[in-house]
Amino acid sequence: MFSFCAKPKAVSAQVNDTAITVQPKETLLQAALRQGIDFPHSCRVGGCATCKCRLLEGKVRELTETGYILSDAELDQGYILACQSVPRTDVRIQVELSAATARRRVRGRVLSREVLTHDIVRLRIQLDESLPYQAGQFAQLSVDSLPGVARSYSFATPMQPDAQVSFFVRKVPEGLFSAHVHAHAVVGEGVTVDGPQGDFHLRPADAPLLLVAGGSGLAPVLALLAQALADGVKRPVSLIFGARTQADLYALDHLQALHRQWPEGFDFVPILSQEPAASGWQGPRGLVTDLIPARLREGSHAYLCGPPAMVDVASALLRERGVAPADIHADRFTTLHEVPTATASTAAAA
Ligand SMILES: Cc1cc2nc3c(=O)[nH]c(=O)nc-3n(C[C@H](O)[C@H](O)[C@H](O)COP(=O)(O)OP(=O)(O)OC[C@H]3O[C@@H](n4cnc5c(N)ncnc54)[C@H](O)[C@@H]3O)c2cc1C
Repeated sequence: MFSFCAKPKAVSAQVNDTAITVQPKETLLQAALRQGIDFPHSCRVGGCATCKCRLLEGKVRELTETGYILSDAELDQGYILACQSVPRTDVRIQVELSAATARRRVRGRVLSREVLTHDIVRLRIQLDESLPYQAGQFAQLSVDSLPGVARSYSFATPMQPDAQVSFFVRKVPEGLFSAHVHAHAVVGEGVTVDGPQGDFHLRPADAPLLLVAGGSGLAPVLALLAQALADGVKRPVSLIFGARTQADLYALDHLQALHRQWPEGFDFVPILSQEPAASGWQGPRGLVTDLIPARLREGSHAYLCGPPAMVDVASALLRERGVAPADIHADRFTTLHEVPTATASTAAAA
């Protein structure tokens, strides 16, 4: 008896105008990068959506469930994550490469490391040259004393004319990069900032803004608000800042200054989830989602940033309350090991 097992074959992928070959088990992102396409990407594990692209023809096998990170509208339009898609047939995809073109690696030096809370430091960095980015975006940061390790951090200020950038780094338990910059006096050290990346930025509109930040997720929200103020944006703002205890609150002076200068209504409320009952805290206790219903104005556009669980629950609640998915913008601070377990599913061509 002879048995014939079909040997997996390479397939072809048309990426915009360029044809590439994809080897069996290779993802679209791996194949594109191997063949010299400057494909936008960051985490490579399905956690950041930087590599999202539109599947125009063909079929792919998805390594993880993408429904949690792509919006319903994007899924309906055939968007997939290139880092999670292994073609099953020849495919044709469309990807916005302009962001990748703008991405650069710029060297710089740490000017200061300021302790903001027991587990968040602010790194202020002088870049050797200007790096254009939009407030809300992030970059891959690496320090010379920890070679070969780069992690995503959101710019905490809008672009500055003096080419200085700031990042808030929260110490993650057992985290390689964050523990390193918390434990070492990195001031004066050389760094590489590789970016910008991501599409978390303020969309032009007149709608009221509902901003929800958790922990170090305040970084891009502060950048976004400062840029909006500089641009003369006049939209009412509700900002909910979720933290565990009073010891986890920071940047309150900064927020007060923004509040004073903001031309329309500016409603800021911190909410604490683990504050001891006897602490004397007068503000609200609970999760950010407890405050969303009361703070959500008619027609609001939402910007959510922080731990994936917070972003997901807030996003689901907003949808339940009738906010259109296209009006919910979110940045999930995924860590390399915080990605969903792999499930095989198949996305067919649109
Ligand atoms: C778009 C984006 C923007 C971000 N912006 C910010 C920001 O502004 N500020 C900020 O503080 N963070 C931000 N993050 C998160 C940041 O990129 C890092 O993931 C975070 O700082 C942890 O990095 P680390 O090297 O310290 O931890 P890692 O070494 O990457 O470890 C992360 C976690 O995984 C666990 N782990 C490590 N190895 C394993 C293993 N083999 N198996 C299981 N678990 C393991 C560790 O214990 C740790 O808890 C952002 C993330 C994204 C995607």
